[in-house]
Amino acid sequence: MSDSLAPESPTVRAFDATVARVDGRSVVLDETYFYPEGGGQPADRGVLGGVDVEHVRSEADGTVVHDLAADPDFGVGDEVTGVVDDDFRTYCMRAHTASHVLYGAGRRIFDDLGYGGFDISAEKVRVDFETSTEVDDGALVELERLVNRAVWDSREVSWEEIPVSEARERGEIAFNVKTEEGVFSESDTVRVVSIDGWDWAACGGTHVSNTVEIGPVEVLGRSNPGEGLTRVEFAVGASAIDRRAAVRTSAYEAARALGTNLDGLGESAATAAAAREELESELADLKSEVLRARLDDFETVERDGLTWRVGAVSGFDANEVGDAAKEARDGADVLVAVGESDAPFVVVASAGDAAAGDVVAEVTDEFGGGGGGGPTFAQGGGLGAPADEVLAYLCD
Ligand SMILES: [Zn+2]
Repeated sequence: MSDSLAPESPTVRAFDATVARVDGRSVVLDETYFYPEGGGQPADRGVLGGVDVEHVRSEADGTVVHDLAADPDFGVGDEVTGVVDDDFRTYCMRAHTASHVLYGAGRRIFDDLGYGGFDISAEKVRVDFETSTEVDDGALVELERLVNRAVWDSREVSWEEIPVSEARERGEIAFNVKTEEGVFSESDTVRVVSIDGWDWAACGGTHVSNTVEIGPVEVLGRSNPGEGLTRVEFAVGASAIDRRAAVRTSAYEAARALGTNLDGLGESAATAAAAREELESELADLKSEVLRARLDDFETVERDGLTWRVGAVSGFDANEVGDAAKEARDGADVLVAVGESDAPFVVVASAGDAAAGDVVAEVTDEFGGGGGGGPTFAQGGGLGAPADEVLAYLCD
């Protein structure tokens, strides 16, 4: 019974071992090359003695337990063959090493850098950086560029056990006590994974032996999981390649829509956004001019000894009409605008002699709907009659 041999010999995919313990579907071997879940890396998949391995985990003392999908037909003392799933392990080795390369890239562009942990899933990998640097779009692009550059540079990856005291003295070694718990236990040595000239980290996972084995890396995005932390997510392998194709497709579509090419895309999009903002502002000005002209055209009627201006508007919502009505009432005692729409509305601005709220109440009592307001301004909506009927009632 011992720790997994996977971190030391990550390329072993098949091995023979002697069964040391069987407890239902949980099996312990005298030695194993299966990697137990830990330190952000998921458990290996595979087959043991002809039975699928569902999960691999470490007990507190480091003993590796294989949880099988069915009852084993072997017992203590039998020799069994273990086969580690090659695709998944290879993916984990590449993804795991990529996380170290990414951290090494962070060393080159972030201030006050600390290691906040990482996690591998089947689709993506995340690394948490502790840094005071704001990780903006430009930083993401630079991280991705540096990572792929380090992959291309084919840097050697190696691992060794060194005394903890020596590791702590070498300031360049990244530690995370949370994810590396277990690395320090039972001994005064720590396993340090080095990427030649690029990164050094205390880590108990499985890694490739040269960065070129990682292949393409695609940064997916960033988020903030907590105070002072920036989480960067990325993909390796097939999902990185697919993601890159999707991004490129979007960029081509955007360039085609803007009548430009990829090189001119940023500038064309900025120009288009600025032009739209200007047009929206012009449109708003023109709409308010049109609305004001409509309100100024309202019919003047005498009602209960007061001067009322009444009329209908269409193409504007109640809030737009409300703001304009307050300004357009001018010399009249009361201004009533009835909005033509699927659910007609009424807006009332008053000098106060006829309370605006009372006028809205009178209209909604007669035609249904609801609303309210104070003496100088009120509005109602959901009237159950068309605007001309409401106007005829008011001018009666
Ligand atoms: Zn590692």
